[in-house]
Amino acid sequence: MTSDTRLRQSLEQLDGQSYKAYKSLRGSYEFSDFSLTIDYVQGDPFAAPSRIRLQLPQSVAGFPSDWLSVPIRQTALADYLSRRAAQLARSIQQKRGSGKSGKILVPELSQAVLRRTVAWVDAAAVELRLAVGLPARGRRIAGYGAAALMCEDIPELVAGCLKYAALDAAALERQIAVVEDAAVLRSQLSDHNLIAFIADQAILPRRSGVDSRPLTAEVVPFRSSEALRVRLPAPHAGPVTGLGIPAGVTLIVGGGYHGKSTLLRAIEQGIYNAIPGDGREQVVTHPAAVKIRAEDGRSVAGVNISPFINDLPQDRSTADFSTPNASGSTSQAASIVEALEAGAQVLLIDEDTAATNFMIRDRKMQALIAKEKEPITPFIDKVRQLYDDHGISTILVMGGSGDYFDVADTVIAMDNYQPREVTAQAQAIAQSHQNIRQSEGGAQFGPISQRVILPQSIEQGNRPTKVKVRDTDNLALGYEAIDLRAVEQVIEPGQVRAIAQAMLYARQYYLDGRRSLAEVLDGVMADIERGSLDALSDRLGLDLVEFRRLELAAAFNRLRTLQAAPIDS
Ligand code: ADP
Ligand code: MG
Repeated sequence: MTSDTRLRQSLEQLDGQSYKAYKSLRGSYEFSDFSLTIDYVQGDPFAAPSRIRLQLPQSVAGFPSDWLSVPIRQTALADYLSRRAAQLARSIQQKRGSGKSGKILVPELSQAVLRRTVAWVDAAAVELRLAVGLPARGRRIAGYGAAALMCEDIPELVAGCLKYAALDAAALERQIAVVEDAAVLRSQLSDHNLIAFIADQAILPRRSGVDSRPLTAEVVPFRSSEALRVRLPAPHAGPVTGLGIPAGVTLIVGGGYHGKSTLLRAIEQGIYNAIPGDGREQVVTHPAAVKIRAEDGRSVAGVNISPFINDLPQDRSTADFSTPNASGSTSQAASIVEALEAGAQVLLIDEDTAATNFMIRDRKMQALIAKEKEPITPFIDKVRQLYDDHGISTILVMGGSGDYFDVADTVIAMDNYQPREVTAQAQAIAQSHQNIRQSEGGAQFGPISQRVILPQSIEQGNRPTKVKVRDTDNLALGYEAIDLRAVEQVIEPGQVRAIAQAMLYARQYYLDGRRSLAEVLDGVMADIERGSLDALSDRLGLDLVEFRRLELAAAFNRLRTLQAAPIDS
């Protein structure tokens, strides 16, 4: 290994040379108390920046050892370090030439605490991965700038964020406590037959549609209704009270603008642990809860949507349904069946983003259009069966149709942002309006079908498939664009990048034309669990963030070249 003084000399000697000469820098360098590895060198000053890894042994980093052996604490600590690094990088970095010269980049993070490749801690060491812009003057190497970046800026960053002594110990402890509490709260849900828990005093609304930090002005903190209040112990906070949503079919009703969608969105995000200050630190949801929405125009490949759609015009099969251009209702039916196939246990649906004709078909419409003429069996006639036959719960925001009272186990009314339990009233109303509509759902939901994904779904040329990710909305896999806008529980670009790598990884190791999609997901997720996210790519240093099998499945299902066929069961 070369020393930092040698690195400085090499950089200064490169001054004025062609930018390509930076390539010779790849390798590891020993600084006084950390090591720096240059994994990737950018091709020109405007290209994607270079990638470096910084490692400190724990003997230098000095983190308390009881944080380093429990995975959830490691994740919480690494997340804290990443955020601190991002903050410091912004203040330390200097413009040191043209293009990205001098930049020190840490990926944009959401409000969730996630396992990421950007930072890692264990009992032996702490590691941080950064992207840096190697300095240039025009297209020539700015060697002295590079020396300042690598031998001054980077050590300053290391000193400020990778050593326990330099950090705010109280803030760090709080982060670990908050994350650990959330995980413990979530783990208790099933013991209490709950699928979500929203703590009293939680702040649910966000600043804006594009700013996920908590609303601060005139915010009404959440307060559970007495009837649904539960009390769960948390190791750090002590007993926490809040609203428990029981398994089964839950309706969230209430007038427009009274906070229904905001509550559902908090529940959607409750699959993740939030950072301190998010407001939703103690909002926790069943880990296999999936947001479902209508998504007209999406493609569908070989999905058995027959629980919801039958007798299409032109005799099109709905047990093996494919289309490059689904309608609102068929897209929503397909998304539900696909989510179940991938292991969803809870469905989250908001009327704002659902297809009306998929959700309801009222008495008058039943009178006018005979069942035989309507291919759609509305969700209202299937939602009970989903729970009774398969144990799949649903939380539904539905301010517009009281027909759902007939099928709900729990009804929560939002009134000025506060929940009230109104199940008994809703059921009384349902009783006194009997026979308003005919149930059309048949006797059973039917089996949850599995498909096999054919390997040719993802092209594989001689060269590695290019992955392009800019945000959480889109993913380019080679020539194929995958629209992820409707996959709302993906919240960081790094998750999209990891999902893309996982698709290619699945193509290489698991898509054999025989395994079911569920088995493919099992295989990929187990490999990540055994190794780490780095298992997905041979390019160390890529910014990858943990994701659920459900979102990996959602990405596969939105691949327009997907070829899939139902497996006969
Ligand atoms: P609904 O779905 O019932 O129509 P929303 O959830 O969309 O209502 O909320 C309407 C507005 O109220 C949003 O702008 C939201 O940010 C705001 N809001 C929601 N909950 C609260 C709260 N607890 N305190 C203050 N404002 C809130
Ligand atoms: Mg709404």
